[in-house]
Amino acid sequence: MLAKLVTTLPLKSLRAAMRASSSLIGAAGAQAVKSKSTTTPAAQQNAVQADTGKAVAKLPIGNLVPADATAAEVQEWGFKHAPINWIPAAVLIATPLAAAIITPWYLMTHKVSAPVWGVFGAFMVWTGMSITTGYHRLMAHRAYKAHPLVRNFFLVGATLAVQGSAFDWCSGHRTHHRHVDDPMDDPYSAKRGFWFSHIGWMLREYPSGKFDYKNIPDLTKDKVLQIQHKYYGLWVLAANVGLVAAVGWLVGDVKGTLVLAGLLRLVLTHHFTFFINSLCHMFGSRPYTDTNTARDNFLLAIFTWGEGYHNYHHFFQYDYRNGVKWWQYDPTKWTILALSKLGLTSDLRTVDDLTIKHAEVQMQFKNAEAQIEKATNGQLDMGEKMHQFRDRIKFEYDAFTQTVAEWQELKAKAIELKKTEFADRLHEVDEVLKGEYSKIEKKIFTHNDNLRQAFRRVGYRPS
Ligand SMILES: [Zn+2]
Ligand SMILES: [Zn+2]
Repeated sequence: MLAKLVTTLPLKSLRAAMRASSSLIGAAGAQAVKSKSTTTPAAQQNAVQADTGKAVAKLPIGNLVPADATAAEVQEWGFKHAPINWIPAAVLIATPLAAAIITPWYLMTHKVSAPVWGVFGAFMVWTGMSITTGYHRLMAHRAYKAHPLVRNFFLVGATLAVQGSAFDWCSGHRTHHRHVDDPMDDPYSAKRGFWFSHIGWMLREYPSGKFDYKNIPDLTKDKVLQIQHKYYGLWVLAANVGLVAAVGWLVGDVKGTLVLAGLLRLVLTHHFTFFINSLCHMFGSRPYTDTNTARDNFLLAIFTWGEGYHNYHHFFQYDYRNGVKWWQYDPTKWTILALSKLGLTSDLRTVDDLTIKHAEVQMQFKNAEAQIEKATNGQLDMGEKMHQFRDRIKFEYDAFTQTVAEWQELKAKAIELKKTEFADRLHEVDEVLKGEYSKIEKKIFTHNDNLRQAFRRVGYRPS
């Protein structure tokens, strides 16, 4: 009993110190981890009586909900009895079935030329990358600015993807980030399981899937996007039938191009994108935060044009990179960077290395704490190696807390200096502080190395 008490004591201080220091990451991380709203829009629709805490069901629910049901029960009722979303449901069910039957039959009975396969490949890249580069990082997150040529090129590609208008896609996606994992408010909450987060959320008119566009004021005033939204059905047909057939005519095989670059490409792109909402919230590592279900997964990054580094993305959503390390497979990031060299994209937003590394080290301490707790759980003797590991972690954590305090001080100093200095001398302030920042950065990197070493000694993986 005593041994157990002794082994858990340092952990308590470790946890308290972690909580204190985690506030530092707020500046960058809080962009992503926004506080959850306490409003219940779906329940409000059903005339929730806030003062009594009970809901009184009105139309369209009628008398089916018990009069004394709570707001949460009414909301859940709304999910269970959500009406079918006929057009998306028909498209999302009919196209995979058609592709599964028509594609093999067509390939067995027709010879497909190399140019048609080339068009299929090009449309795969164009469509998939238009969602990630255009809808996602440019429009939903404003992670960079793009020349109208680039913006419209991706807009047409995203229309080919048949994933809703830019208004619908971006409004839903911003809501996903704001309420991530919330079963009531995240439109594709992973907490409702694989099927719901992958495709189910689009098949019915769920309360969490109703967007009011209040969260996309920057997009609703865009004239081109207004037209795309208004005539979305026409745009989809023009792109997926008109444009694909026209290219097919150019390469001399309209039917083959429609089957491969039209139908098969559409279905594959659909599900590769849907993986981001389903599998990227289920499988992989969490090197930056465990406050939500998003994961980093290299394999999924391949199918999703770099969006597989979803844990990073959910913590630092305004960074134009998802695979933030130079070696991480993120063709979307490479495209945005390459276009910036040509002057076609600009204002690429990034999170600084120090903040990123701080998040990583913080997570390593959390993992260390979990490992120690696991090893000591119910055991009186946790072994010499584990003792050493725990002492080392405690020692490293004190040093880390010290570095973080220095960092905070430096930030305060920077704000103070910038207030008192004249605008034309601000760059001098930046120069002086740059050296001090780089010293702190080095220290954080050393903490990271020391922790990795400590993990290796006891045979654990750091993350
Ligand atoms: Zn997500
Ligand atoms: Zn996002």
